[in-house]
Amino acid sequence: MKPISYGRQFISDEDINAVIQVLKSDFLTQGPTIQHFEKEFAKYVDAKYAVAVANGTAALHLSAMALNVQPGDKWLTTPITFVASANCIRYCGGEIDFIDIDSKTYCIDIVKLEEKLKSVPKGTYKGIIPVDFAGYPVNMEEIRSLANDYDLKIIEDACHAPGGFFVDNQGTNQKCGNGQFADLAIFSFHPVKHIATGEGGMITTNNKELYEKLCLYRTHGITRNEDQMSENHGGWYYQMIELGYNYRLSDIQAALGISQLSRADIGLNARQEIAQRYNQAFTKNDHIQTPFVANEANHAYHLYIIQIDDRKGLYEYLRKHNIFSQVHYVPVHTMPYYKNQENTKHDLPIAETYYDHCLSLPMYPTLTINEQNYVIDKVLDFVNS
Ligand SMILES: *Cc1c(COP(=O)(O)O)cnc(C)c1O
Repeated sequence: MKPISYGRQFISDEDINAVIQVLKSDFLTQGPTIQHFEKEFAKYVDAKYAVAVANGTAALHLSAMALNVQPGDKWLTTPITFVASANCIRYCGGEIDFIDIDSKTYCIDIVKLEEKLKSVPKGTYKGIIPVDFAGYPVNMEEIRSLANDYDLKIIEDACHAPGGFFVDNQGTNQKCGNGQFADLAIFSFHPVKHIATGEGGMITTNNKELYEKLCLYRTHGITRNEDQMSENHGGWYYQMIELGYNYRLSDIQAALGISQLSRADIGLNARQEIAQRYNQAFTKNDHIQTPFVANEANHAYHLYIIQIDDRKGLYEYLRKHNIFSQVHYVPVHTMPYYKNQENTKHDLPIAETYYDHCLSLPMYPTLTINEQNYVIDKVLDFVNS
Protein backbone atom coordinates (compact mmCIF):
# COMPACT_ATOMS: atom_id res chain seq x y z
CA MET A 1 0.00 0.00 0.00
CA LYS A 2 1.26 3.50 -0.86
CA PRO A 3 1.45 5.93 2.07
CA ILE A 4 -2.02 7.23 2.98
CA SER A 5 -2.17 10.63 4.64
CA TYR A 6 -5.05 12.10 6.64
CA GLY A 7 -5.85 14.61 3.92
CA ARG A 8 -4.73 15.63 0.45
CA GLN A 9 -5.66 17.85 -2.45
CA PHE A 10 -7.23 16.69 -5.71
CA ILE A 11 -5.85 18.51 -8.78
CA SER A 12 -7.55 17.64 -12.06
CA ASP A 13 -6.51 18.32 -15.67
CA GLU A 14 -9.13 21.10 -15.78
CA ASP A 15 -7.47 22.70 -12.77
CA ILE A 16 -4.10 22.62 -14.51
CA ASN A 17 -5.56 24.07 -17.70
CA ALA A 18 -7.25 26.86 -15.78
CA VAL A 19 -3.91 27.87 -14.29
CA ILE A 20 -2.19 27.72 -17.68
CA GLN A 21 -4.83 30.04 -19.14
CA VAL A 22 -4.03 32.69 -16.52
CA LEU A 23 -0.30 32.30 -17.07
CA LYS A 24 -0.89 33.12 -20.75
CA SER A 25 -3.13 36.10 -19.92
CA ASP A 26 -2.35 39.74 -19.13
CA PHE A 27 -2.84 39.55 -15.38
CA LEU A 28 -1.09 37.31 -12.87
CA THR A 29 -2.47 39.31 -9.98
CA GLN A 30 -5.18 41.97 -9.47
CA GLY A 31 -6.88 40.88 -12.66
CA PRO A 32 -10.45 39.81 -13.41
CA THR A 33 -10.08 36.22 -12.20
CA ILE A 34 -10.14 37.33 -8.55
CA GLN A 35 -13.56 38.96 -8.87
CA HIS A 36 -14.86 35.94 -10.71
CA PHE A 37 -13.66 33.65 -7.90
CA GLU A 38 -15.17 35.94 -5.26
CA LYS A 39 -18.53 36.00 -7.02
CA GLU A 40 -18.65 32.23 -7.46
CA PHE A 41 -17.58 31.60 -3.88
CA ALA A 42 -20.15 34.02 -2.44
CA LYS A 43 -22.81 32.21 -4.48
CA TYR A 44 -21.60 28.82 -3.22
CA VAL A 45 -21.99 29.74 0.45
CA ASP A 46 -25.09 31.96 -0.06
CA ALA A 47 -23.36 35.14 1.07
CA LYS A 48 -23.65 38.61 -0.48
CA TYR A 49 -19.96 39.52 -0.56
CA ALA A 50 -16.67 37.65 -0.66
CA VAL A 51 -13.12 38.99 -0.41
CA ALA A 52 -10.27 36.75 -1.59
CA VAL A 53 -7.06 37.00 0.43
CA ALA A 54 -3.61 35.42 0.69
CA ASN A 55 -4.56 32.69 3.20
CA GLY A 56 -7.00 31.85 5.98
CA THR A 57 -4.82 33.53 8.59
CA ALA A 58 -4.83 36.79 6.63
CA ALA A 59 -8.63 36.41 6.40
CA LEU A 60 -8.78 36.19 10.20
CA HIS A 61 -6.43 39.15 10.68
CA LEU A 62 -8.37 41.41 8.30
CA SER A 63 -11.63 40.32 9.95
CA ALA A 64 -10.33 41.31 13.36
CA MET A 65 -9.21 44.67 11.92
CA ALA A 66 -12.54 45.28 10.19
CA LEU A 67 -14.38 44.56 13.44
CA ASN A 68 -12.12 47.09 15.13
CA VAL A 69 -10.36 44.85 17.65
CA GLN A 70 -8.36 47.19 19.89
CA PRO A 71 -5.54 46.57 22.37
CA GLY A 72 -7.01 45.06 25.52
CA ASP A 73 -10.28 43.94 23.90
CA LYS A 74 -11.28 40.45 25.00
CA TRP A 75 -12.61 37.85 22.60
CA LEU A 76 -13.68 34.25 23.07
CA THR A 77 -12.97 31.14 21.03
CA THR A 78 -12.71 27.37 21.32
CA PRO A 79 -9.48 25.66 22.44
CA ILE A 80 -9.93 22.90 19.86
CA THR A 81 -8.98 24.68 16.68
CA PHE A 82 -5.93 25.67 14.70
CA VAL A 83 -3.93 28.36 16.54
CA ALA A 84 -4.72 30.95 13.86
CA SER A 85 -8.33 31.26 15.09
CA ALA A 86 -7.02 32.75 18.34
CA ASN A 87 -3.95 34.55 16.99
CA CYS A 88 -5.91 37.06 14.90
CA ILE A 89 -7.09 38.82 18.07
CA ARG A 90 -3.51 38.98 19.36
CA TYR A 91 -2.34 40.58 16.07
CA CYS A 92 -4.57 43.53 16.98
CA GLY A 93 -3.39 43.60 20.60
CA GLY A 94 -6.55 42.01 21.94
CA GLU A 95 -6.77 39.13 24.39
CA ILE A 96 -8.30 35.75 23.81
CA ASP A 97 -10.11 33.56 26.28
CA PHE A 98 -11.30 30.02 25.73
CA ILE A 99 -14.64 28.30 26.35
CA ASP A 100 -14.64 24.53 26.73
CA ILE A 101 -16.00 22.33 23.95
CA ASP A 102 -19.22 20.33 23.83
CA SER A 103 -18.33 16.68 24.42
CA LYS A 104 -20.58 15.58 21.54
CA THR A 105 -19.94 18.10 18.76
CA TYR A 106 -16.38 19.08 19.79
CA CYS A 107 -17.38 22.66 18.96
CA ILE A 108 -17.67 25.52 21.45
CA ASP A 109 -20.12 24.63 24.26
CA ILE A 110 -22.92 27.15 24.00
CA VAL A 111 -24.17 26.46 27.54
CA LYS A 112 -20.74 27.16 28.99
CA LEU A 113 -20.44 30.18 26.74
CA GLU A 114 -23.63 31.63 28.19
CA GLU A 115 -22.53 30.82 31.76
CA LYS A 116 -19.27 32.64 31.14
CA LEU A 117 -21.01 35.70 29.68
CA LYS A 118 -23.45 35.78 32.62
CA SER A 119 -20.64 35.57 35.17
CA VAL A 120 -18.88 38.78 34.09
CA PRO A 121 -20.05 42.39 33.67
CA LYS A 122 -21.66 43.06 30.30
CA GLY A 123 -19.10 44.47 27.89
CA THR A 124 -16.22 42.38 29.28
CA TYR A 125 -16.07 40.48 26.00
CA LYS A 126 -16.27 42.16 22.63
CA GLY A 127 -16.59 39.20 20.33
CA ILE A 128 -16.52 35.50 19.66
CA ILE A 129 -14.91 33.21 17.08
CA PRO A 130 -16.90 29.98 16.76
CA VAL A 131 -15.28 27.29 14.60
CA ASP A 132 -17.21 24.79 12.47
CA PHE A 133 -14.79 22.20 13.73
CA ALA A 134 -14.00 19.20 11.50
CA GLY A 135 -16.90 20.36 9.31
CA TYR A 136 -19.58 20.21 12.00
CA PRO A 137 -21.81 23.22 11.39
CA VAL A 138 -22.16 25.33 14.54
CA ASN A 139 -25.70 26.58 15.14
CA MET A 140 -24.95 30.20 14.35
CA GLU A 141 -28.52 31.27 15.10
CA GLU A 142 -27.96 30.37 18.76
CA ILE A 143 -24.59 32.12 18.77
CA ARG A 144 -26.17 35.21 17.21
CA SER A 145 -28.89 35.32 19.83
CA LEU A 146 -26.28 35.24 22.63
CA ALA A 147 -24.16 37.77 20.76
CA ASN A 148 -27.13 40.14 20.60
CA ASP A 149 -27.79 39.77 24.34
CA TYR A 150 -24.16 40.48 25.20
CA ASP A 151 -23.14 42.86 22.41
CA LEU A 152 -20.62 40.55 20.82
CA LYS A 153 -19.27 40.59 17.30
CA ILE A 154 -18.91 37.26 15.51
CA ILE A 155 -16.19 35.90 13.22
CA GLU A 156 -17.18 32.43 12.08
CA ASP A 157 -14.10 30.33 11.33
CA ALA A 158 -15.61 28.14 8.61
CA CYS A 159 -12.28 26.81 7.26
CA HIS A 160 -13.49 23.24 7.75
CA ALA A 161 -16.98 23.65 6.43
CA PRO A 162 -17.52 25.11 2.95
CA GLY A 163 -20.80 23.55 1.80
CA GLY A 164 -21.88 22.53 5.30
CA PHE A 165 -25.08 23.92 6.82
CA PHE A 166 -27.20 23.84 9.97
CA VAL A 167 -30.99 23.89 10.11
CA ASP A 168 -32.38 27.00 11.80
CA ASN A 169 -35.48 27.45 13.96
CA GLN A 170 -37.72 27.81 10.91
CA GLY A 171 -36.36 24.62 9.35
CA THR A 172 -34.31 26.53 6.80
CA ASN A 173 -30.85 25.31 5.79
CA GLN A 174 -28.25 27.91 6.71
CA LYS A 175 -24.92 27.41 5.00
CA CYS A 176 -21.70 27.90 6.95
CA GLY A 177 -20.36 31.37 6.25
CA ASN A 178 -23.57 32.67 4.63
CA GLY A 179 -23.44 35.92 6.57
CA GLN A 180 -26.96 35.57 8.04
CA PHE A 181 -25.71 35.40 11.62
CA ALA A 182 -21.96 36.02 11.79
CA ASP A 183 -20.60 39.48 10.96
CA LEU A 184 -17.80 37.86 9.00
CA ALA A 185 -16.86 34.30 8.09
CA ILE A 186 -13.51 33.04 6.91
CA PHE A 187 -12.26 30.13 4.79
CA SER A 188 -8.84 28.67 3.88
CA PHE A 189 -7.68 27.11 0.62
CA HIS A 190 -4.69 25.30 2.07
CA PRO A 191 -4.20 21.98 0.22
CA VAL A 192 -5.77 19.84 2.96
CA LYS A 193 -8.98 21.92 2.96
CA HIS A 194 -11.96 21.29 0.68
CA ILE A 195 -10.85 23.75 -1.98
CA ALA A 196 -7.11 24.03 -2.66
CA THR A 197 -5.25 26.98 -4.19
CA GLY A 198 -1.85 26.25 -2.62
CA GLU A 199 -2.26 29.15 -0.24
CA GLY A 200 -5.44 31.18 -0.18
CA GLY A 201 -8.35 32.39 1.87
CA MET A 202 -11.75 34.08 1.66
CA ILE A 203 -13.87 36.29 3.87
CA THR A 204 -17.64 36.32 3.37
CA THR A 205 -20.20 38.79 4.72
CA ASN A 206 -23.59 40.38 4.04
CA ASN A 207 -22.41 43.72 5.41
CA LYS A 208 -21.42 46.21 2.70
CA GLU A 209 -19.51 48.49 5.04
CA LEU A 210 -17.36 45.63 6.34
CA TYR A 211 -16.87 44.40 2.78
CA GLU A 212 -15.49 47.78 1.71
CA LYS A 213 -13.15 47.94 4.70
CA LEU A 214 -11.80 44.48 3.92
CA CYS A 215 -11.09 45.43 0.30
CA LEU A 216 -9.14 48.44 1.53
CA TYR A 217 -7.16 46.59 4.21
CA ARG A 218 -6.28 43.82 1.78
CA THR A 219 -4.24 46.18 -0.36
CA HIS A 220 -2.32 48.64 1.84
CA GLY A 221 -5.36 50.77 2.71
CA ILE A 222 -5.04 52.29 -0.76
CA THR A 223 -8.03 53.55 -2.71
CA ARG A 224 -8.58 54.97 -6.19
CA ASN A 225 -12.26 55.51 -5.52
CA GLU A 226 -12.99 59.23 -5.84
CA ASP A 227 -15.74 59.06 -3.19
CA GLN A 228 -13.16 57.96 -0.63
CA MET A 229 -10.40 60.45 -1.55
CA SER A 230 -9.94 63.98 -0.20
CA GLU A 231 -8.55 65.23 -3.52
CA ASN A 232 -7.64 63.89 -6.96
CA HIS A 233 -4.60 64.89 -9.03
CA GLY A 234 -5.38 62.79 -12.12
CA GLY A 235 -5.46 59.30 -13.54
CA TRP A 236 -2.31 58.14 -11.73
CA TYR A 237 -3.48 59.31 -8.34
CA TYR A 238 -4.36 57.17 -5.36
CA GLN A 239 -4.58 57.71 -1.63
CA MET A 240 -3.67 55.55 1.31
CA ILE A 241 -6.45 56.25 3.79
CA GLU A 242 -5.93 53.41 6.28
CA LEU A 243 -3.02 51.21 7.36
CA GLY A 244 -3.42 48.00 5.39
CA TYR A 245 -1.36 45.08 4.14
CA ASN A 246 -0.60 43.19 0.98
CA TYR A 247 -2.86 40.22 1.64
CA ARG A 248 -3.93 39.74 -1.97
CA LEU A 249 -4.52 36.42 -3.68
CA SER A 250 -3.02 36.05 -7.17
CA ASP A 251 -5.07 35.41 -10.30
CA ILE A 252 -3.11 32.17 -10.74
CA GLN A 253 -4.47 30.93 -7.42
CA ALA A 254 -7.95 32.31 -8.11
CA ALA A 255 -8.14 30.39 -11.39
CA LEU A 256 -7.30 27.19 -9.54
CA GLY A 257 -9.91 28.14 -6.94
CA ILE A 258 -12.68 28.63 -9.51
CA SER A 259 -11.91 25.28 -11.09
CA GLN A 260 -11.78 23.54 -7.70
CA LEU A 261 -15.00 25.23 -6.60
CA SER A 262 -16.84 23.78 -9.59
CA ARG A 263 -16.17 20.31 -8.09
CA ALA A 264 -16.80 21.29 -4.47
CA ASP A 265 -20.12 19.45 -4.17
CA ILE A 266 -18.66 16.30 -5.68
CA GLY A 267 -15.87 16.44 -3.13
CA LEU A 268 -18.32 17.05 -0.30
CA ASN A 269 -20.44 14.05 -1.30
CA ALA A 270 -17.35 11.88 -1.49
CA ARG A 271 -16.39 12.98 2.03
CA GLN A 272 -19.85 12.16 3.33
CA GLU A 273 -19.74 8.72 1.74
CA ILE A 274 -16.33 8.03 3.25
CA ALA A 275 -17.69 9.06 6.65
CA GLN A 276 -20.63 6.72 6.27
CA ARG A 277 -18.36 3.80 5.48
CA TYR A 278 -16.23 4.54 8.54
CA ASN A 279 -19.38 4.87 10.64
CA GLN A 280 -20.68 1.50 9.45
CA ALA A 281 -17.37 -0.15 10.22
CA PHE A 282 -16.90 1.38 13.66
CA THR A 283 -20.21 2.21 15.35
CA LYS A 284 -20.68 -1.24 16.80
CA ASN A 285 -17.16 -1.38 18.19
CA ASP A 286 -17.01 -0.56 21.91
CA HIS A 287 -13.43 0.71 21.68
CA ILE A 288 -14.14 3.37 19.09
CA GLN A 289 -16.18 6.52 19.50
CA THR A 290 -17.35 7.78 16.09
CA PRO A 291 -18.16 11.46 15.44
CA PHE A 292 -21.58 12.80 16.36
CA VAL A 293 -23.82 13.93 13.52
CA ALA A 294 -27.20 15.55 13.97
CA ASN A 295 -27.97 15.28 10.27
CA GLU A 296 -25.88 13.26 7.80
CA ALA A 297 -26.40 15.67 4.93
CA ASN A 298 -24.95 18.80 6.46
CA HIS A 299 -21.59 17.81 7.97
CA ALA A 300 -18.75 18.98 5.72
CA TYR A 301 -16.28 16.35 7.03
CA HIS A 302 -13.02 18.20 6.67
CA LEU A 303 -11.89 15.62 9.22
CA TYR A 304 -13.14 12.24 10.38
CA ILE A 305 -12.20 12.04 14.05
CA ILE A 306 -12.54 9.01 16.26
CA GLN A 307 -11.87 8.79 19.98
CA ILE A 308 -10.04 5.81 21.35
CA ASP A 309 -8.38 4.84 24.66
CA ASP A 310 -4.89 4.12 23.35
CA ARG A 311 -4.62 6.93 20.85
CA LYS A 312 -0.83 7.00 20.75
CA GLY A 313 -0.71 3.25 20.26
CA LEU A 314 -3.10 3.40 17.33
CA TYR A 315 -1.30 6.39 15.80
CA GLU A 316 1.98 4.49 15.86
CA TYR A 317 0.47 1.20 14.69
CA LEU A 318 -1.08 2.97 11.69
CA ARG A 319 2.21 4.72 10.92
CA LYS A 320 3.97 1.37 10.85
CA HIS A 321 1.44 0.36 8.22
CA ASN A 322 1.96 3.48 6.12
CA ILE A 323 -1.19 5.23 7.30
CA PHE A 324 -0.48 8.78 8.46
CA SER A 325 -3.29 9.75 10.77
CA GLN A 326 -3.13 13.07 12.61
CA VAL A 327 -4.25 14.77 15.80
CA HIS A 328 -6.53 17.82 15.56
CA TYR A 329 -5.65 19.76 17.60
CA VAL A 330 -3.26 20.23 20.45
CA PRO A 331 -5.52 22.54 22.53
CA VAL A 332 -4.58 26.16 21.88
CA HIS A 333 -4.66 27.15 25.57
CA THR A 334 -1.90 24.59 26.30
CA MET A 335 0.51 26.22 23.83
CA PRO A 336 3.42 27.87 25.68
CA TYR A 337 2.63 31.21 24.04
CA TYR A 338 -0.89 31.22 25.46
CA LYS A 339 0.10 29.65 28.75
CA ASN A 340 2.50 32.55 29.28
CA GLN A 341 -0.19 35.17 28.81
CA GLU A 342 -1.31 36.92 31.97
CA ASN A 343 -4.54 35.96 33.73
CA THR A 344 -4.89 32.71 31.93
CA LYS A 345 -5.74 29.87 34.22
CA HIS A 346 -7.90 27.70 32.07
CA ASP A 347 -10.19 24.98 33.27
CA LEU A 348 -11.12 23.17 30.09
CA PRO A 349 -11.43 19.51 31.04
CA ILE A 350 -13.55 18.38 28.08
CA ALA A 351 -11.07 19.79 25.57
CA GLU A 352 -8.16 18.16 27.38
CA THR A 353 -9.84 14.76 27.59
CA TYR A 354 -10.83 15.06 23.95
CA TYR A 355 -7.20 15.81 23.05
CA ASP A 356 -5.97 12.70 24.90
CA HIS A 357 -8.13 10.41 22.78
CA CYS A 358 -8.76 11.99 19.37
CA LEU A 359 -7.35 10.76 16.07
CA SER A 360 -8.13 11.97 12.55
CA LEU A 361 -8.34 9.13 10.03
CA PRO A 362 -7.69 9.59 6.30
CA MET A 363 -10.47 11.71 4.79
CA TYR A 364 -10.23 13.18 1.30
CA PRO A 365 -12.29 12.76 -1.87
CA THR A 366 -9.78 10.64 -3.79
CA LEU A 367 -9.34 8.08 -1.00
CA THR A 368 -10.25 4.83 -2.75
CA ILE A 369 -12.51 2.15 -1.31
CA ASN A 370 -9.53 -0.21 -1.25
CA GLU A 371 -7.46 2.27 0.67
CA GLN A 372 -10.28 2.98 3.07
CA ASN A 373 -10.88 -0.73 3.66
CA TYR A 374 -7.18 -1.11 4.40
CA VAL A 375 -7.39 1.73 6.96
CA ILE A 376 -10.50 0.20 8.53
CA ASP A 377 -8.85 -3.23 8.77
CA LYS A 378 -5.78 -1.81 10.44
CA VAL A 379 -7.81 0.21 12.95
CA LEU A 380 -9.91 -2.84 13.82
CA ASP A 381 -6.80 -5.09 14.02
CA PHE A 382 -5.35 -2.70 16.57
CA VAL A 383 -8.40 -2.16 18.77
CA ASN A 384 -9.44 -5.84 18.77
CA SER A 385 -5.98 -7.18 19.56
C1 LIG B 1 -6.43 26.03 8.07
C2 LIG B 1 -7.09 26.79 9.14
C3 LIG B 1 -6.82 28.15 9.38
C4 LIG B 1 -5.72 28.91 8.70
O1 LIG B 1 -5.76 28.90 7.33
P1 LIG B 1 -4.39 29.13 6.50
O2 LIG B 1 -4.90 29.26 5.10
O3 LIG B 1 -3.53 27.93 6.71
O4 LIG B 1 -3.77 30.38 7.00
C5 LIG B 1 -7.56 28.79 10.36
N1 LIG B 1 -8.50 28.15 11.08
C6 LIG B 1 -8.76 26.84 10.90
C7 LIG B 1 -9.81 26.19 11.72
C8 LIG B 1 -8.05 26.12 9.94
O5 LIG B 1 -8.29 24.82 9.78
